[in-house]
Amino acid sequence: MSLPKSHPRYESLRTRELIVKGVERGITSIHGLIAHGRGEAFDYLVGEKTNDFAKKSVKAAAAILLAAKNPVISVNGNAAALAPKELVKLSNSLNAALEVNIFHPSKQREIKIKNHLIKFGAKNILLPDKKHKIKFLESNRKYANPHGILKADIVFVPLEDGDRTEALIKNGKKVITIDLNPLSRTAQKATMSITDSVTRAVPLLIKTINQYKKYDKNRLRKIIKNYDNKKMLKEAIKQIRKL
Ligand code: ATP
Repeated sequence: MSLPKSHPRYESLRTRELIVKGVERGITSIHGLIAHGRGEAFDYLVGEKTNDFAKKSVKAAAAILLAAKNPVISVNGNAAALAPKELVKLSNSLNAALEVNIFHPSKQREIKIKNHLIKFGAKNILLPDKKHKIKFLESNRKYANPHGILKADIVFVPLEDGDRTEALIKNGKKVITIDLNPLSRTAQKATMSITDSVTRAVPLLIKTINQYKKYDKNRLRKIIKNYDNKKMLKEAIKQIRKL
């Protein structure tokens, strides 16, 4: 579909098109369309822009990811469709593996996501290993790679479900998420929640990481220590209420 750039909802339509293409290519689950719809609704409510609360969360996320020993980026079908190039860039700049992890079981879809990321230059991609799982989770998302999520200290999960966030935390990991809904269990349970769209937040995160690379450990630690996730979520909810 050709979208005129002058269309007042160009960005929203472009993003919707990416998800539809993801479904057509077999990398995004059809259920991903519903998840995207929920995201679109919340994007409207936060003004379809990166608000100050999201900018603050991005800064803290950049600091914690740079300070991590073993950061891993978890990728589902929606994230792979929306920001493949950016996720690969993030993986390269953090030297962190991209690990495919999907809710609706499909080995074929996992491989398609992997190949899609390779097309965008990914070098370090892991698939979940059925012999290994994280504790406290029943769904397909429990499977993890022993060289990736299983040994990670920080898991960056753009677009997550609440169950897994809780389980990852109970498994001793820190979870950094991007979720447009500040009320979701994911946003509420994560260590850091960026209330913004994946398409805007990931590029900003990469830019911030590159900027913070020259910071020493103490400076990064200070940024992490001063961050209050509950406060950021309250600010996001306040912004929505103001409408
Ligand atoms: P939870 O289990 O955390 O309460 P949920 O059941 O609402 O979450 P899902 O339907 O699994 O979550 O996933 C959709 C979530 O992803 C929603 O919270 C939605 O706001 C968010 N979302 C969808 N698209 C985007 C996007 N492009 N950027 C950021 N967040 C998004």
